Amino acid sequence: MTVDLTGKTAIVTGAGRGIGRAIALDLGKHGAHIFCAARTARQIESVAIEIVAAGGTATPIVCDLSNEQSICDMFTQVTRKFERLDILINNAGIGIYGPIAEFSTADFDNVISVNLRGTFLCSREAMKLMVPAHSGYIINISSVVGFKGYVNQGAYTAAKHGVVGLTKTLAIEAQENGIRASVVLPGGVDTEMVARSRPDLDRSVLIQPSDIAHTVAYLLSLPATCAVDQIYIRRRNSTPFG
Ligand code: NAP
Repeated sequence: MTVDLTGKTAIVTGAGRGIGRAIALDLGKHGAHIFCAARTARQIESVAIEIVAAGGTATPIVCDLSNEQSICDMFTQVTRKFERLDILINNAGIGIYGPIAEFSTADFDNVISVNLRGTFLCSREAMKLMVPAHSGYIINISSVVGFKGYVNQGAYTAAKHGVVGLTKTLAIEAQENGIRASVVLPGGVDTEMVARSRPDLDRSVLIQPSDIAHTVAYLLSLPATCAVDQIYIRRRNSTPFG
């Protein structure tokens, strides 16, 4: 995938491992300065070092997406360094699983707080920078459960449907301001999260994090005349249109 992001700045949330790490490394190779955000300092520092070793530039930022002040502090750090933001990848997410009949309110709130509220807060703060610049791209990572349900994944499914809904309105408001917004809905990707949530899946049939990174790069490579609202990527051995 060829996309020239030289001179662009990007925040990738959840960049410490899994899908976010792959996206951060890939966008770094395409020339963007990457702000790698997550809670675990050693993981985002390590990813930032990898980006620099590959010839890019990066800044690790410790940020807890369940904490509004932490998100505002992250955006303050970004604007202090560059006074602009070109790309936001809302990727960070958590999974807490169990049947709805036994699911605690605290766990429900936690999943919604990181996966949906965190996406909303980051999008809002990004829009504050992108609207005056009349440019930018926000890409939200939802899930296959952004349009269907899975047993034991009630809170996660609600949050991921919410991310799709949020993106639908965001895309309209963004477009009015020269900004693009898309949502990516992956099926099972070979990360720690899926190892915990779907231990039944054979790892050899899973999507690779780099495949999601290529999808994000593809979206960013499209000319301004094109708008892709959503991309659903499923495991090859899952049901077509299922
Ligand atoms: P992962 O390997 O568990 O990585 C999740 C990332 O999010 C980590 O860097 C984690 O870092 C960060 N994160 C979690 N809670 C956070 C918080 N409160 N504040 C800031 N960062 C936080 O998961 P993944 O599989 O790569 O998933 C990435 C995204 O893709 C998620 O939104 C997930 O729902 C979605 N997705 C995954 C799959 C899949 O099969 N793996 C499929 C569809 C969609 P810290 O813990 O250090 O904060």
